[in-house]
Amino acid sequence: MDKLKVLVTDPVDEAFLEKVKPHVNVEVALKLPEEELLKKVEDVDVLVVRSRTKVTRRVIEAAKKLKAVIRAGVGVDNIDMEAAKERGLTVVNTPREPAESVAELTIAFALCLARKIPSLDRSMKEGLWLKGEMGMELKGKTMGLLGLGAIGSTVARLARAFGMRVIAYDPYVSEEKARELGVELVSFQELLSSSDFLSVHVPLTPETKGMIGRNEIASMKDGAFIINTSRGGIVDEEALYEAIKGGKLAGAALDVYVKEPPPPDHPLLKLDNVVCTPHVGGSTSDAQLRIALTMADDLLRIARGEEPLNKVKTW
Ligand code: NAD
Repeated sequence: MDKLKVLVTDPVDEAFLEKVKPHVNVEVALKLPEEELLKKVEDVDVLVVRSRTKVTRRVIEAAKKLKAVIRAGVGVDNIDMEAAKERGLTVVNTPREPAESVAELTIAFALCLARKIPSLDRSMKEGLWLKGEMGMELKGKTMGLLGLGAIGSTVARLARAFGMRVIAYDPYVSEEKARELGVELVSFQELLSSSDFLSVHVPLTPETKGMIGRNEIASMKDGAFIINTSRGGIVDEEALYEAIKGGKLAGAALDVYVKEPPPPDHPLLKLDNVVCTPHVGGSTSDAQLRIALTMADDLLRIARGEEPLNKVKTW
């Protein structure tokens, strides 16, 4: 039987290539302009992407032999799932592998906001000594999680280790699971009104887009913080800017943006109490190695004609 033809269009850990190379024909072609990608996918059996490559309907239609798309990471919002479904494509991701890294970044963000670390670091480097700057502890504060899946649950464990009260809104999670995690399940309204730190861990879907908008921010605690390590667009960026500028919120920390990278004159980048990172939640050597090994296993399952373990359920 011919070996599968695999095209990798975003950077993946070397461990993936080492593991699959003896069994499939792999080509790595990064940063392809769309027209070149459309040409390259024509005779490809499996496409491997992270979040940069957009697997649009055009790409799927051009890839006449395509059987599967493997997404190194969690969110599949860069894949046209409707088009994939129509073609009967198998879509595979690595749902658990980045959780610890994203959760640790979330806690790092909470600490940065609570202790103003980024702005104090900047002020020191400008020759200032702002010893009077007052921060706060995480202990005793309420961490509110929007979404209690793999990442939300991990943030809950870490936040509890800091002595935080953890509440969550996730209508798809059982009371029993929440109890095991030491998390109180609350209504969306209560999540908004009780959180000192509101942290977003839901996927971007038509239902969650703009879920934290002007009205929702208005019903939050005065002086609360918002953390978004999930996807840009779940928190309305304009409403967030206004709320921080106007003093309703004390600050925010963002790893994800509506447009990535955001334009350099993006108003949120100008605020001192907004901490930003360039979508690096899952970018640790530890997470990338776990991702590489998990997706290599699933690619080899596909090559052997078996069901991959991490098939994304869409139908
Ligand atoms: P997950 O599927 O395990 O958890 C998502 C949770 O959201 C589920 O429990 C689900 O029930 C809940 N949910 C869905 N719709 C909801 C709604 N309308 N209201 C409340 N809850 C809702 O996913 P995860 O692994 O925890 O990842 C969460 C998101 O984090 C991903 O979708 C991805 O977009 C993002 N992510 C970001 C990075 C990064 O680099 N910053 C890395 C990995 C994942």
